[in-house]
Amino acid sequence: MVDGDGGGCPRCGCPVRELCPVEPGHRMSQGRLTYLRCVCGSWLVRLDGTVVAATRSPR
Ligand SMILES: [Zn+2]
Repeated sequence: MVDGDGGGCPRCGCPVRELCPVEPGHRMSQGRLTYLRCVCGSWLVRLDGTVVAATRSPR
């Protein structure tokens, strides 16, 4: 696992801090929700800077 800054992509391990947020994010009661597009094609969902979910890469 990648240490620091919320970890990385669960599919390819790319550290999310090297990815650019697609949008500023949404303010939720749990924290800030942001989406990032990984270099492997997955969409990563971050909550307050921590990756909580990822989509499957399209085929
Ligand atoms: Zn990835």
